[in-house]
Amino acid sequence: KLDTGWVDSWMGASAAAIAENKALLNNLDREIGDGDHGENMDRGLSAVVTALAALPDDATPSAALRSIAMTLISTVGGASGPLYGTAFLKAADPLGAATELDGAVVVSMLTAARDGIVSRGKAELGDKTMIDAWTPAVEAAQAAAADGASPAAILAAAASAAEAGAVATEPLVARKGRASYLGERSAGHRDPGAQSTAIILRAAAVVAD
Ligand code: ADP
Ligand code: MG
Ligand code: MG
Repeated sequence: KLDTGWVDSWMGASAAAIAENKALLNNLDREIGDGDHGENMDRGLSAVVTALAALPDDATPSAALRSIAMTLISTVGGASGPLYGTAFLKAADPLGAATELDGAVVVSMLTAARDGIVSRGKAELGDKTMIDAWTPAVEAAQAAAADGASPAAILAAAASAAEAGAVATEPLVARKGRASYLGERSAGHRDPGAQSTAIILRAAAVVAD
C-alpha cells in the first residue's frame, strides 16, 4: 500500500540507486554540463534518508514529501536542487491528509510534481531537460489510470515512460540549463537530469510492488 512507509522505501531505494549510478550521472553531466549531477543527487538523497528517519511515526505521506522537498532544496544545489525540491513540494499538495494514496492521487501527485518543475524552470518538452522524462511519465500514468491500472502499475508505467524519455533526450539540442551553452554540441548525449528522474521514478515503482 502507498502510505508513508512507501515514501520511506521509495527514498531508500532512490538513494541506493542514485549512489549506484553516481559515476554514470557525473559522466553524463561531464559531457554537457559541469560533471556534478551524480554528486549533487547522491548528497541530496542521503540527506533525505536521514531526514525521513527523524520524522514522527504518524507523519502523513504529504508531510514526508514536504520534508523531502526541504532537504533536497537545502542539500542538492545546482539547477536540479530547487527543481526537484519544487517537484516534491508540489507533489505533496494533492495528498492532503490522506494516509494512503490511490491511483488517482498518484496521478495527481506526479502531475503536480511535473507542473512545479515547469513553473520553476520554464522548460518545454524537447528542451533536453528532466521534463523530457517527467512529461512522458505523467502522460503514461494518466493513461494507465484511465485503463483502471493499480497504483503500482501506474507507477510502473510512469517509470518505463521516464526511462524511454531519458533515452530520447540523446539526439536533442539543449535549450535550458548549462547544457544549452553548448548549443548544437549538446546533441548526442543523454540529459543527466532526465536520467536521474527515470532512476527515482523506477524506485517508486519497484517498492510499490
Ligand atoms: P547544474 O547544472 O547547476 O550543475 P545539476 O548538474 O545538478 O545542476 O542538474 C542538471 C540538470 O538539471 C540537467 O540535466 C537538467 O535535466 C536539469 N535542468 C537544468 N535547467 C533546467 C530547467 N530550466 N528546467 C528543467 N530542468 C532543468
Ligand atoms: Mg551539473
Ligand atoms: Mg553544478
